[in-house]
Amino acid sequence: MKRFISALGAGLLVSGLATGGADAQVTEADLRDDQTVTTQVVTNGMGRHQQRYSPLDMINTENVGRLVPAWAFSLGGEKQRGQETQPLVYDGVMYITGSYSRLYAIDVKTGEEIWQYDARLPEGILPCCDVVNRGAAIYGDMIYFGTLDARIVALDRKTGDVVWRKKIADYKAGYSYTAAPVIVNGLIVTGVSGGEFGIVGEVQARDAETGEMVWTRPVIEGHVGTFKGEPSTMTGTLNATWPGDMWKTGGGATWLGGTYDIDTDTLVFGTGNPAPWNSHLRNAGEPVPDNAGDNLYAASRLGIDPANGEIKWHFQTTPREGWDFDGVNEVIPFVDANGDRRYATADRNGFFYVLNREDGAFVAAYPFVEQINWASGIDETGRPQFVEENRPGDPAASTDGQKGETVFAVPSFLGGKNWQPMAYSQKTGLFYVPSNEWGMDIWNEPVTYKKGAAYLGSGFTIKPLFEDYIGSLKAIDPLTGEVKWEYKNNAPLWGGVMTTAGGLVFTGTPEGHFKAFDDETGEELWSFQTGSGIVGQPITWEMDGEQYVAVISGWGGAVPLWGGEVAKKVNYLNQGGLLWTFKIPSQLSAAN
Ligand code: CA
Repeated sequence: MKRFISALGAGLLVSGLATGGADAQVTEADLRDDQTVTTQVVTNGMGRHQQRYSPLDMINTENVGRLVPAWAFSLGGEKQRGQETQPLVYDGVMYITGSYSRLYAIDVKTGEEIWQYDARLPEGILPCCDVVNRGAAIYGDMIYFGTLDARIVALDRKTGDVVWRKKIADYKAGYSYTAAPVIVNGLIVTGVSGGEFGIVGEVQARDAETGEMVWTRPVIEGHVGTFKGEPSTMTGTLNATWPGDMWKTGGGATWLGGTYDIDTDTLVFGTGNPAPWNSHLRNAGEPVPDNAGDNLYAASRLGIDPANGEIKWHFQTTPREGWDFDGVNEVIPFVDANGDRRYATADRNGFFYVLNREDGAFVAAYPFVEQINWASGIDETGRPQFVEENRPGDPAASTDGQKGETVFAVPSFLGGKNWQPMAYSQKTGLFYVPSNEWGMDIWNEPVTYKKGAAYLGSGFTIKPLFEDYIGSLKAIDPLTGEVKWEYKNNAPLWGGVMTTAGGLVFTGTPEGHFKAFDDETGEELWSFQTGSGIVGQPITWEMDGEQYVAVISGWGGAVPLWGGEVAKKVNYLNQGGLLWTFKIPSQLSAAN
């Protein structure tokens, strides 16, 4: 890893900040109202529920065909890697994060840079899946983001000067951080990345002003949380679902951050795969008695009390997980067509789950990708009905003890859906899910834990299921699981989705196209070639009476690194790093 020298131009400011008082402060009310206040975007997900739905309709199905670029901004740098950020817009400034832990403040009217911060990353960082960052958080007069050396940095949003910088965990043990933090009642809440290194997943809450830790909540049973510097409570029950000492390096990385459900005052975080991948090493003997090999709370969703870090409820999507089906994907609070308060989440394991918002209880699950074969379905309690012959075999049962039986499992470990966020439309009541149709050959191998080394005990090769497409954007009815429409894309989808009251669904493709679809029919209404693959997350906002849309373009992420035969299929794609903004020229808009 190349050593990065900070190019921070401290205090090089600035023209064009005409609006916004010198003392404008992002408040809890700003965060709470992010979906309805359309002149700014101050949270990841365009609202802490991460619905990625905007009530703006100035750009709509009638006029979206006239959308053209307003300005673009290059991230520069020697290496262009995956750009997965979601922009924030506040007080005349757009904030974006970039690959290699960079953060930029840009004049939102002109596209000119105000300041740039480059984290000084040490030698030996261990990012598993490209050097990405998925976005910042903003509160008070500070902007925050996580870095690849597992730190969180608070910057003065006007100058880019460091206010505080705290260590989340030890990068030498495989920890890193890439998700956007979530801020609730003055606490800045993060998880940890590093699930392929035998780390232990945790959720941490700090005082946003000072960076002082308020509480920590490890997510693997047997570990003890903290509250104001003192031990608090044990997570789960020691050795209830983990044998021996395996829980000490049990994984469950909380690497995609979380949502906040204000109606139930609950943080909802997902947890990654249990470690190692080889599930036979984590069982209390086979046949597994009384779910003793479930490995709580890996591959789960957790409802957490933001005041003290106590776990309110858990729902495990993949007990006894053995395919790297991380349970981290975003959990979106919504109200269904019957008026019931629900959560929805589209899991790596290929099932779309609906849960009760009061207690996380299972309501329903539907397959959302084709040919799922590791489970035949989900039973009425929410537990998978395993197809044991499609679990990769135990190396100890092989003749030489070196390689278990290889199986072809669907979906692949990159999931029916990976990190790329879906969107929920309050207009249609549908979820728009960026999914992928692929499987994998997977086998298990012996492995022992070694600090800072990959802790998988598995090998794999990803394969497409169909010749003509892998990516599949689906409009899903959360009451029935019915797929109302589907857009098929040749390359795997790896970018976020956004939907609007204008009847539009926006997303980007690795082939570089930023697209808008009709939310009812899936008809493609607009497309723009951005010059590199899109793996970022679109936003929209209102400025000077006009609606703007922005997305970052820059191919990368996990697919080219881990995608096996799929990676070969996409290796012609060029890297990049451009933030694009779009609007309808005002005379055309007025003429409509
Ligand atoms: Ca994983």
